[in-house]
Amino acid sequence: MNSLWLSDNNIFKNIDLNNNLDKDFSTDVCVIGAGIFGLTCAYYLTKLGFDVTVLEKSDIASKATGNTTGKITSQHGLFYDYLTNSYGQKFAKDYLDVNEEAIENIKNIIDEEKINCDFKYQNSYVYTTKKDELKFIKKEYNAVSDLGYNCELVTKTGLPFNIVGALCFKKQAEFHPIKYLAGLCKCIIERNGKIYTNTTAVDVKMEDSDYITYANGHEIKSKYVIIATHYPFINFPGFYFTKMYQSTSYLIAVDTKKTLFKGMHISAGVPTLSFRTALYNNKEILLIGGMDHKTGHPSSYKDTYGKLEDIAKKYYPDSNVLFRWNTRDCISLDKLPYIGHFSSSMPNMFVGTGFKKWGMTLSNVAANIIVDKICGNLNKYEYLFKSTRLKPIKNHDEFKNMLVQSTNSLLLNKLKRPNMSFDEIENNSGSIIEVNNEKVGIYKDKNGKIYAVNPICTHLGCLLSWNDIDKTWDCPCHGSRFNFDGTNLYDPAFKNLDTYDL
Ligand SMILES: Cc1cc2nc3c(=O)[nH]c(=O)nc-3n(C[C@H](O)[C@H](O)[C@H](O)COP(=O)(O)OP(=O)(O)OC[C@H]3O[C@@H](n4cnc5c(N)ncnc54)[C@H](O)[C@@H]3O)c2cc1C
Repeated sequence: MNSLWLSDNNIFKNIDLNNNLDKDFSTDVCVIGAGIFGLTCAYYLTKLGFDVTVLEKSDIASKATGNTTGKITSQHGLFYDYLTNSYGQKFAKDYLDVNEEAIENIKNIIDEEKINCDFKYQNSYVYTTKKDELKFIKKEYNAVSDLGYNCELVTKTGLPFNIVGALCFKKQAEFHPIKYLAGLCKCIIERNGKIYTNTTAVDVKMEDSDYITYANGHEIKSKYVIIATHYPFINFPGFYFTKMYQSTSYLIAVDTKKTLFKGMHISAGVPTLSFRTALYNNKEILLIGGMDHKTGHPSSYKDTYGKLEDIAKKYYPDSNVLFRWNTRDCISLDKLPYIGHFSSSMPNMFVGTGFKKWGMTLSNVAANIIVDKICGNLNKYEYLFKSTRLKPIKNHDEFKNMLVQSTNSLLLNKLKRPNMSFDEIENNSGSIIEVNNEKVGIYKDKNGKIYAVNPICTHLGCLLSWNDIDKTWDCPCHGSRFNFDGTNLYDPAFKNLDTYDL
């Protein structure tokens, strides 16, 4: 199902996008990926007079950004105590300041360009309902206060259930991300930028001091390239696949007659639960999100949407689910994004990734850093996110998990015999079976029609797992996703799966 944000087909109606690249040409900057990060870069660069071309594999912002919660905040869960302890107070303060600046940068763009995107200042809260978690909120309060930021400890938030405590950041914001991006697209095109949809970049190569991007059988020559594909689709150099994993979360939008709360809320502990309100047909509705898990790991409807729907019913018994959706984001092993040079061996090629589910502000931070690099300006926050940093592993447990998962999916699971046979697969379900000692991914649709794919990820060769909620093949190593018929949906893979005729 589409997200609330992507449900309105009219938003891009009057915007002159190019559908499908059909020629070779040169441009100053080639931006690969039209999510919030790529489009923010293109917006700032066209405003400065650069000739910019954006390439987008599918539709504008149809991936992470079109399925986000749309909270614009510097409160990234409980984060500042971790940052202070891991990197020191100056680092934590700079991280807070640059994200606060990003909120105002977004507001300034909206005001200056007159973008109608339901932007609204709101307080943001991290809350707990558990006594034993209160100490973490208090620690965060102390860490944030020590940075000189005026946050507040509260015991009431307006949520429809009792909390033990919450940390409030004032004057944060929320918006409709797709209306915002449509506004950016309009500005980019008015300033002679080009946006190509249905255009998949498959490689980028250096040629003297320029870059050639290969897409849809054509070549785009540029001085600068920005990899804004969410998870970088180029593996070597860069090696981002050794430094990041993806995490999926679920959202529902519900209608209720009951009066809704104010503010944006997220739980301190797990399972993560996130709440905000939004406008739909000029009426306030409720968004509930959370139930995250590592992308590619099996989950069920009951444990994801089911749990969110139970919460909606418990506190809003008349609630009616209007939209259900899920998406994923990249999380680095030290919980900091990678922003800057894609690799030290590729000057003038840049990246922004690993926004760890806080990409509304972090994409703006990333765009400003990269635009400064292209313009030769010093950016005082660049050091926070250095993409070529050498000691990126702070989270040793997750690093171990990643190694185990990759070993299993690349090697061990491929040797295991699947425990399902063809006949045991029910209609509207899928599984891996073995045919002549080869693994085959089978999906039987509601009417019994069979789709057979080679269940090996086209990114780096991991064995895929069946996702029965979305009827997709998902990669447990790096998070790529393919439709049941093998069509590539999500990065870092960009090639479809091989299919078999049965
Ligand atoms: C459930 C959920 C809720 C979230 N809620 C919030 C929130 O409330 N606040 C917040 O700050 N952040 C939130 N986030 C995080 C935020 O949504 C992301 O960090 C952000 O949208 C990432 O933007 P992006 O531009 O990097 O990626 P994307 O939006 O995914 O854009 C990348 C684009 O690149 C394209 N692409 C990929 N490969 C290629 C290729 N080879 N060639 C051409 N194009 C390609 C893709 O099709 C895609 O359109 C949330 C994340 C999740 C998972």
